[in-house]
Amino acid sequence: MSRGILIVLSGFSGAGKGTLMKELMKTYDNYALSISMTTRAPRQGEQDGREYFFSTREKFEEKIAQNGLIEYAEYCGNYYGTPRDYVETKLNAGMDVILEIEIQGMRKVKKMFPDMLSLFVTPPDAAELARRLRGRGTETEESVMKRLNTAVLEAEGVEDYEYIVVNDDLKRCVEEIHGIVRAAKRKPVRNEEFINSIRAGLKVLAKGE
Ligand code: ADP
Ligand code: 5GP
Repeated sequence: MSRGILIVLSGFSGAGKGTLMKELMKTYDNYALSISMTTRAPRQGEQDGREYFFSTREKFEEKIAQNGLIEYAEYCGNYYGTPRDYVETKLNAGMDVILEIEIQGMRKVKKMFPDMLSLFVTPPDAAELARRLRGRGTETEESVMKRLNTAVLEAEGVEDYEYIVVNDDLKRCVEEIHGIVRAAKRKPVRNEEFINSIRAGLKVLAKGE
């Protein structure tokens, strides 16, 4: 069994990352979605251990001190981080592991896993982002403005990603993400074991033995 690939998915708050991930997980069984730890308060309907591991700042800082996070970042005044154990276990089990994290986290993960795949999700246009953020009904107007201002900065970093996916129609976008992952898995750098076995076989045949 070959090791899975690590996929980082980022995008402006309200672009639809959570919605896309739910649909992707429902449709395909090769993915494992990492659950982050955060100090932000749960939104209505969110459950501890499902969307996030909700934590106090003290507990989060303890986890950092124990080296229990692959990466962490502060976003709009809260800590967010990726627990280490889950990622390694699932990759070794052959699953394709998705980290739904922001750009600072993506840059840190890239240093540790240079052959990870990175995707950036956007809405079809800026006005639609504001509509989705407000339409979700989970943020105060102050939090919406913070997130839109953060989006302005994030938009400057989009070139650091390998692919942009536009979340217009949800199901179409899920298919596009799955297609990109499938193609990425066929890159030679991610198939060294297979290529080496073909090379070895060819050498034997070419000797005529
Ligand atoms: P994120 O996780 O990126 O912050 P969410 O998944 O919470 O975003 O989505 C933000 C809002 O946009 C939600 O109300 C969601 O139902 C809506 N949404 C997500 N994808 C689409 C889409 N393709 N078309 C229309 N609305 C969408
Ligand atoms: P939200 O509060 O909307 O759930 O998430 C805010 C931002 O934090 C999003 O851009 C999301 O991708 C990012 N995020 C979620 N978990 C992590 C994490 O573990 N690490 C980092 N760096 N960012 C995260």
